[in-house]
Amino acid sequence: MSISSETEKTKPQITQSWRDTKAKPFVQIEQITKKFGEFTAVDSVSLDIYKNELFCLLGGSGSGKSTLLRMLAGFEKPTSGRILIDGVDMANIEPWERPVNMMFQSYALFPHLSVEANVAFGLRREGVKSQEVTQRVQKMLDMVQLGHLAKRKPHMLSGGQRQRVALARALIKRPKLLLLDEPLGALDKKLREETQFELINLQDELGITFVVVTHDQEEAMTLATRIGVMDQGNIAQIAEPHEMYEYPANRFVAQFIGNVNLFEGSVITSEKDSVTIHSPDMDQLIKANHGISCVPNQSVSVAIRPEKMRISRERPDAEFNSTPGIITDYAYMGSQSVFKVRLASGKEVRVTLPNNARDMGDRLTWDESVYLSWDMPSSVVLTS
Ligand code: ADP
Ligand code: MG
Repeated sequence: MSISSETEKTKPQITQSWRDTKAKPFVQIEQITKKFGEFTAVDSVSLDIYKNELFCLLGGSGSGKSTLLRMLAGFEKPTSGRILIDGVDMANIEPWERPVNMMFQSYALFPHLSVEANVAFGLRREGVKSQEVTQRVQKMLDMVQLGHLAKRKPHMLSGGQRQRVALARALIKRPKLLLLDEPLGALDKKLREETQFELINLQDELGITFVVVTHDQEEAMTLATRIGVMDQGNIAQIAEPHEMYEYPANRFVAQFIGNVNLFEGSVITSEKDSVTIHSPDMDQLIKANHGISCVPNQSVSVAIRPEKMRISRERPDAEFNSTPGIITDYAYMGSQSVFKVRLASGKEVRVTLPNNARDMGDRLTWDESVYLSWDMPSSVVLTS
């Protein structure tokens, strides 16, 4: 038996329902539009979310993320379109009757109640027996690592602790769907990173479907099973984080997620598995794998991530995908170095190199003449 088939057997089987074309979506958003007067905040968005997903809605400020989330919760009525949760049309279902809980950015904790009482509030109001409330609150506080602070009031907690109280309060009623609007926005960077992993663990443990709104692309990349990128009320792309980064569907997504170099050009030849492109910024022609259909003379952009660029003093032995330039900027950033290289056309290209040895020997530096190049599969051709 080969090694690879052995490892294949022992690998845990993760069911990723969004990859299963026959799986039934848990949330179905069908051509949802929301207008405020003449202004369209959400523009005919269609989107399926599956059980156990941690789906991130990612976009700049004003792109319509919160409005879409509020329609899922029932706080806003769609102008047109339909939302189904677990197969049920939500059109005439009030917010409190939906199998949904929403955690707001402000947390909205009751200041006069202890941590314990804040978390217990929803259950008490539902008339859950006192003994059960105590047990469930204790379990939930342990889960978010606040057991030792149960008696404190919100003002005696740090921002991160208050965030966890709000999370515990939203989770204790065991909603099937938890909506979180910028849940980590108030936390500093380090705490945000820790809390991101806690959120993933909690989600894993509880099997609740999460929809998280964020404007922070790193946060979305860390948290999400899939990301929906929003731009001016539209969904620009829906994909898993890795796919979103490596195969952006359009210029907007390529530039929104991470850093990218875009070469504008026009198609020379389009063959079965490759396309050649002339870009006025480049010395050589660009040759790229297909992926999308394009025709001669069509205007396209070629996207290459900075870490997929090579930089060398000698002219690479290649017919395509190489061009000379001059280093105009260089920054040592510990784990990597960032170069800016100006091409003859004036275009600036960003290149990152890993600092994978302590002694980097004869380093490249300012004002050096260099060649940029990349491998054919490293680029993505974009038509929109
Ligand atoms: P995001 O959460 O992505 O920052 P929102 O969904 O809050 O964006 O808002 C999208 C757009 O809709 C914004 O331009 C915002 O000003 C507008 N908008 C949101 N709510 C209202 C409202 N109640 N009345 C009028 N305009 C609104
Ligand atoms: Mg918002």
